[in-house]
Amino acid sequence: MFQNWSKRLSVLALAAPLTILCQALPADDQDSPEKILLKDYQPKSIYKIPKTTVPKAKYPIIDMHSHPYAATPEQIAEWVKNMDAVGVEKTIILTMATGAEFDLIYQKYAQYPDRFELWCGFDYTGYEQPGFGPAATKELERCYRVGARGVGELGDKGKGMSFGKTRAVGLHPDDPRMDALFQKCAGLKMPVNIHVADPIWMYEKMDNTNDGLMNAYRWRLDNQPDIVGHSGMIDILERTVKKHPQTIFIACHFANLDYDLTRLGQLLDRYPNLYADIAARYAETAPIPRFVSRFYAKYSERLLYGTDMGFAAGMYRITFRVLETLDEHFYETKQFGYHWSLNGFGLPDSILKKLYRENALKILKKR
Ligand SMILES: [Zn+2]
Repeated sequence: MFQNWSKRLSVLALAAPLTILCQALPADDQDSPEKILLKDYQPKSIYKIPKTTVPKAKYPIIDMHSHPYAATPEQIAEWVKNMDAVGVEKTIILTMATGAEFDLIYQKYAQYPDRFELWCGFDYTGYEQPGFGPAATKELERCYRVGARGVGELGDKGKGMSFGKTRAVGLHPDDPRMDALFQKCAGLKMPVNIHVADPIWMYEKMDNTNDGLMNAYRWRLDNQPDIVGHSGMIDILERTVKKHPQTIFIACHFANLDYDLTRLGQLLDRYPNLYADIAARYAETAPIPRFVSRFYAKYSERLLYGTDMGFAAGMYRITFRVLETLDEHFYETKQFGYHWSLNGFGLPDSILKKLYRENALKILKKR
């Protein structure tokens, strides 16, 4: 009897899913899951749980990582209006520019000296020639006189200081040719925002095990020959920060160590002149809210709010939802391009105040 019953069960078990499959998935159905591409996958949460809208940040904000997204006076005015609406008192614009280009951007934003602060780039002209250094330092001093109050976003994804319009292949930040520039930053009390490496999944195989595949594929580094790998770039960052203890470095995007915050913590422990900004790494940290919240608590003195994602009011509000609420399993696929679900950190007031403004003021007021 038992044997027969179990035989019947196994037949049923086999037959049932097949029936469901046959009914639900005609082979030529356009909506068949067999035909949905990962890039088009935009799930909606099924959960009936609280959804919190945060129209304005709980405390005033200094956004330490933005770019000159607004081109016209009208757009700049709209940006200021959005900043007022969401509670951003000041935005640091990382122009990455020097020379006439920097001056032009500076002029555009000069109408709002209390709302925007402009940082410049480095001029790498002639970096491959002997004698590189004095002219670049002179240009930095000139930008300072125009009004630049920091430097950034410098960047090295493994090929050298190649970021924005600048190209200095093979020149890494720990190179002796960079020493005079970083020393001058300390002298002028200009903090340096620096981007090293990129998220780890951009270095990994672009296959069905890659956790950030759709985003990773767009910015892939796995197919780039002769680049310094992720870990090597963190070593370069460490040597740079160690070499210039008087210079304030802000490693942007959690130094691209959002996947291994323990290593970032070790760097912050070792080097008091190092800070990290959280810009454009909301989607990468919100999937692991408990671990990340503990990190925010431990390093609450060293983390800086930043966006790096345009100036729409809705963009700021998404960052507030991640930082301030305890909402769970929500998607912001359009903003971030990942299909991961996000969770709020529910950071306490004392941490929010430091993250949003107080830590930034420690850096900006030192000048
Ligand atoms: Zn940026």
